[in-house]
Formats: sequence, C-alpha cells, structure tokens
Amino acid sequence: MNNRQPHVLIAGAGIGGLSAALALLQRGFEVDVYEQAPKLEEVGAGVQLSPNGTRALHAMGVLEALERSSCTAEGKEVRHWKTGETWNLFDLGAEAIERYGFPYLTVWRPDLLETLAAAVRREKPDAIHLGSRCVGFTQAGGRASLLLDGGRQAIGDALVGADGVHSQIRRALFGAEEPTFSGMIAWRGVVPMATLPQHMTRMVGTNWVGPGGHVVHYPLHRGELMNFVGIVERGDWLIESWSTRGSAEECTTDFAGWHEDVHRLIRGAPSLYKWALMAREPMERWTVGRVTLLGDAWHPTLPMLAQGAVMAIEDGFILARCFERWPTDVATALACYERARRERTRAIVLGSAANARRFHNPALADPIDAKQYLDREWSRAAITSRYEWLFTYDVLSAEI
Ligand SMILES: Cc1cc2nc3c(=O)[nH]c(=O)nc-3n(C[C@H](O)[C@H](O)[C@H](O)COP(=O)(O)OP(=O)(O)OC[C@H]3O[C@@H](n4cnc5c(N)ncnc54)[C@H](O)[C@@H]3O)c2cc1C
Repeated sequence: MNNRQPHVLIAGAGIGGLSAALALLQRGFEVDVYEQAPKLEEVGAGVQLSPNGTRALHAMGVLEALERSSCTAEGKEVRHWKTGETWNLFDLGAEAIERYGFPYLTVWRPDLLETLAAAVRREKPDAIHLGSRCVGFTQAGGRASLLLDGGRQAIGDALVGADGVHSQIRRALFGAEEPTFSGMIAWRGVVPMATLPQHMTRMVGTNWVGPGGHVVHYPLHRGELMNFVGIVERGDWLIESWSTRGSAEECTTDFAGWHEDVHRLIRGAPSLYKWALMAREPMERWTVGRVTLLGDAWHPTLPMLAQGAVMAIEDGFILARCFERWPTDVATALACYERARRERTRAIVLGSAANARRFHNPALADPIDAKQYLDREWSRAAITSRYEWLFTYDVLSAEI
C-alpha cells in the first residue's frame, strides 16, 4: 500500500472499458485506455438498455445526450411465431419511468460508444489510445505492465481487462478457455425503418417466440432504424464473431414457416451477420493481484436477458466506487469489486440460459398450447419475478 492514488490501465475501449474509464476519471483517478482498433467504431447493431443501465449512465452524466440519439420504446410485446398473435408484456415508456425512475432505451451501438468516448475525452482528451492491441501483462513490485503489440508497454498500478469475449487478459490470467456451443446461432441485421410497412414501425420492442427459435426487433437511432436479431437452434456454425456475414437465403431458410413480418425484416436488412452463441460457466474468480476483468471478458452471457452491455456498464461504475472507497489500496479495491459483482453477474448468466429454454419451448409450436404457455410464462407475476431484481439495481447505492 502507498499513499498515492493508483493509475489504472484499461485494455479495450468497448462499452465496459469506456464506462469504467469515465467513472474513474470522474473520481479523479489517472486512467489510460488501450484499444486495438485504429478507429473507435462499434458494430452497427442495437442494444437494449434497461433502467438499471440507464440509471448508471445518468449517474455518469451521459444519459441525456444518449437519449437524443436513441429511442424510448413505448412497450414490449410477445408475438406467436406463426400466427402473429400478440401479448403486451409491459409498458416500457411512462410506466418504466414511474416504476424505476429511468427509461428503457433501445440504442444503436455506435451512438452509445460515441457518447461514452466523448465524455471520457472531456475528462481527459488523450485517455484513449487507438491502434494499441494488448497482448499480455506482467505484474511485479507493486506495478502492472500492459504489453502491447509491437513491443511497447504501459505501466500503471492496476490493470482492467475489458477486452471482450475473446479477452487476451483473461487468457493471460487463467489460460485458454473452452466454451461450449449452446446449439444456437444469432442472426443480426439493421433495417432502414423507411422500408418497412407502417404497422411495423411502431416504437415497441417485439419478441417473437417459437419452437427452436426467437426473434427480437426494436427501433434505434431516433427511429430511423429497426434492429433485428433472430436466434435459431442450429448445430453447424461455431464462429463467435460480430463480423461474419451470412446470406438472406440462409436466414430465410432458418425461419421457414415463421410469420411474414419476420420475413419482411430479413428481406429488408441490407446485410445479415451470424454469431455462434457460446455458453460459459460463471467464473469463480477474476482478479489476480493488480489485474482484474470486466464485462464480457469476465462474464460473457447468452443474450436472452439483454443484460451483457448493461452488466459491463454496472461493472465499470462499481469498480470506480471501490477505488474511491480504497483510493490507495489496489488489492482491497479489487477484492471489493469482485465481492460486489459476484452474485449478480452469476445470476444473470444463469438466468439468461434459463430464458433460452423459455423462449424456444416446444409448447409454442401449437397455437392453443402456446396461448396457455404464454399466459403462464409471461403473466405479470412471472415477468415481475424475472425482471424486477434486474431493473431496480442501483449502482449508486448497491452494497460494496
Ligand atoms: C446478438 C447479441 C445481442 C445482444 N443484445 C444485448 C442487449 O440488448 N443488451 C445488452 O445489455 N447486451 C446485449 N448483448 C451483449 C453485449 O453486446 C456485450 O455484453 C457487450 O458488448 C460487452 O461489452 P464489453 O465492453 O465487455 O465488450 P466489447 O463490446 O466486446 O468491447 C471490447 C473492446 O475491446 C477491444 N479489444 C478486444 N481485444 C483487444 C485487445 N487484445 N487489445 C485491445 N483492445 C481489444 C475490442 O476492439 C472492443 O472495443 C448482445 C450480444 C449479442 C451477441
């Protein structure tokens, strides 16, 4: 322990790395972020930010700016894969704000990244180092050295691996991992709203559920775009990547027999990408000495609770609170962070896997069985028990 505040190095300028950087800079810590990409760019996909996430973004002072480029979905509905019958799940507009104090936003990822990066640069203009691929680290003598491509290194007092699902920092800490293929792939695309028929352009989030698959779509970017994610059980695709393209024909085949509105989305997407959904058991620990992990680097999750990015934002804020509480003791601050985040992140990873079984249940094949199943599984009481604990989490008052 010494008496000066630590200099924190962060590997990865994604949603989690930038959230952590912002919350730390706002508390007066010295921070540098190392990002492999030569330009700060996010994949052109959507992300849902539930009130626990928007509450954290408000606490970082960036919610208002993000709201200007995003959409507040008025409601969420479930639709039957074949008949299109619709069940209203919950009001995500006025009622979400009344109940949770903060909106449920649907956001284009580049808008979120740009908002976070601008806020980081306002705090420290040269905090983000682009074209800096992290390849490993060493720690000794009370310092952490982040090793960068090309033989450079950065030296600080603590290192946070926020370098995503294929994290080099996690690999250097714990060795190569072996995820299990979940048996599902995710198709994604972004459809220009102007190309969709009027009944599909409402500001609602929609979740189509069917046997062996589900489809989620919601508006983005001031309502100019519609995000499409189609998840289907399929055993022949194992690449986990944001950038692997697939064809409209292949996606159409995966959703054969589904409602015409689903096919309108597939036809309307200028490009379609496919991502193999890998399952990973929650990790028991993720800190060694002065090095820790954050976001997908530590707890990648199936997307069925739409909480991966939100967890990364929460992680960043809680990490900063722990450093603020123990400003001169890295080991205690990181132990605080690990303790504060263990149960919640574990419950989300396990809950997401359980939701996959719920969304793809064989009972959904037949319209009559499906109605009974949906009335039971998406009753107000069932929804409250599945989501209330997620949405009410407050990064400002959560125990650390
Ligand atoms: C189909 C799908 C839908 C989803 N929908 C939602 C949703 O609705 N809501 C939600 O909350 N979550 C959702 N998620 C999850 C969410 O996308 C992730 O959990 C989130 O992006 C994690 O953020 P992160 O910052 O930890 O990692 P990332 O976003 O992956 O960022 C990691 C960063 O590190 C950089 N990097 C990687 N390696 C290195 C290196 N060696 N050196 C330097 N930099 C490096 C990368 O370039 C990137 O900038 C979804 C995921 C998928 C696949």
